[in-house]
Amino acid sequence: MEQFKMYIGGKWVDAISGKTYQAINPATEETVAEIPLGGVDDVNLAVAAARKSFPIWSQMPQSERSRLLEKMAALQREFAGELTKWEILDHGTPVRIARMQSSFSSGNIEYCAQAARALMGSAPPPSPGAMTCVVREPVGVAAIIIPWNSPILMLTSKAGAALAAGNTVIIKPASIDSLVTLKYGEIIDKVGFPPGTINIITGPGGTVGEALASHPDVNFVSFTGSSETGKQIMKVASQTLKRAQMELGGKNPFIVLEDADIDKIIPMAARGLCFNTGMVCASPGRFYIHEKIHDEFVKKFITEIQKVVVGDPDDEKTEMGPVVSAEHRDKVEGLIKKGVAEGAKLLLGGKRPSQPPFNKGYWVMPTVFTGVKPGTTLFKEEIFGPVACFMKFSTDEEVLASANDNVYGLSAGVYSRDTARAYRIASRINAGAVGINGGRTLTAETPWGGFKESGFGKENSMYGLEEYTQLKVISIGMQ
Ligand code: NAP
Repeated sequence: MEQFKMYIGGKWVDAISGKTYQAINPATEETVAEIPLGGVDDVNLAVAAARKSFPIWSQMPQSERSRLLEKMAALQREFAGELTKWEILDHGTPVRIARMQSSFSSGNIEYCAQAARALMGSAPPPSPGAMTCVVREPVGVAAIIIPWNSPILMLTSKAGAALAAGNTVIIKPASIDSLVTLKYGEIIDKVGFPPGTINIITGPGGTVGEALASHPDVNFVSFTGSSETGKQIMKVASQTLKRAQMELGGKNPFIVLEDADIDKIIPMAARGLCFNTGMVCASPGRFYIHEKIHDEFVKKFITEIQKVVVGDPDDEKTEMGPVVSAEHRDKVEGLIKKGVAEGAKLLLGGKRPSQPPFNKGYWVMPTVFTGVKPGTTLFKEEIFGPVACFMKFSTDEEVLASANDNVYGLSAGVYSRDTARAYRIASRINAGAVGINGGRTLTAETPWGGFKESGFGKENSMYGLEEYTQLKVISIGMQ
């Protein structure tokens, strides 16, 4: 069994306490690695290392910083096979998807390296007797706290932007999905960054995460995870008035109007729901189907979703793997039970499979509910599993009111042959990103981030890079 180490100050280290915990393969329930169980003392070491490196890294010419990040992206492409292997073992991601995520995420780093060269300040119109510059500076030491649902994407978009803008970073992955991030340390180690520029620390969110978020020498917390944890981080980060960026949960409406091309949409909808076993912040959380096409849509959707290949993540044909842990499977099953108890109609799934290969591992099969009622658990709560919640609507006003009736506001989809009507609906949805007819909202070049309890601040694009900078005015008297 492989023993992983944390990466602090350019060195591979165990937790100061010497304690470790085990990583479990969610498809087989086998222990695959041992991970250091970091604590507050380890956080202090990592913050000191990042602080020490900050003057060196932040004052390095941008061209040199960008060159090192481009080297990191190139090494990531070379190392893709190894990252994919650990993504499969630790998360159960199907091999084709793991490969695709690794390739997409090297693109995140490349984008940040290139775009940072265009980050600029400005010079306001001259005032008599003074010349004024608005300078864009890095914020300082950034704590990057990421979830388990797609560590490679989170790690590269956040660390890429923070580093390209001149910050030093400490990355804390989720306890149940740390291996890809720790493996990424091997890439970082080969690049030749000044020691301490990037640090990786593992351990429980309640101790390691909170120690980072409250540390007086951490200037910025970039967090992706649940809204509940986001609120707790905001609380402790407020003690030192830290800058923060929050990418939180979603319960995203997927709206299909009566004139939509449903034969085109259904394969997209079924695979969208099953992508990463539904453990995606942008997953369709509420399907709103116009009443004229609802029954036909649901019938065809059920036929389609049964074609999704569920099974061994190592198999090239597999489209959907297990959920990440026994605890998460139990949570999803609990929500399904609540859905039934609250009166939604269960048309597919909802039972734990027991036949091989599903007798080991944490599996939730595609599940379909219709008749989901406003105010119920299935309507309100993020499920983070392959569970479709269908509702009917009759007018645009009705669907808009219902779609916006949620604490979240992350993303949405609108489907219609009438693009102008779809655009009018999109412009009134209270969410950070709306895709019309399958438009792509998540790329390195487009800003990503939610409204309401889905968080604030943007990831990706120039807006994402700017999050990791602060503006300073320097005015030179000319008399
Ligand atoms: P989570 O439980 O909130 O954990 C996220 C991270 O926060 C983990 O590293 C966790 O560490 C750490 N953490 C936990 N408690 C903490 C505390 N008190 N202080 C500081 N850090 C703490 O979220 P998750 O279950 O891993 O991820 C799923 C959630 O992420 C979903 O709600 C999903 O929608 C959201 N998400 C949002 C986006 C987006 O772009 N908006 C993208 C992906 C995921 P431990 O693992 O050690 O507990």
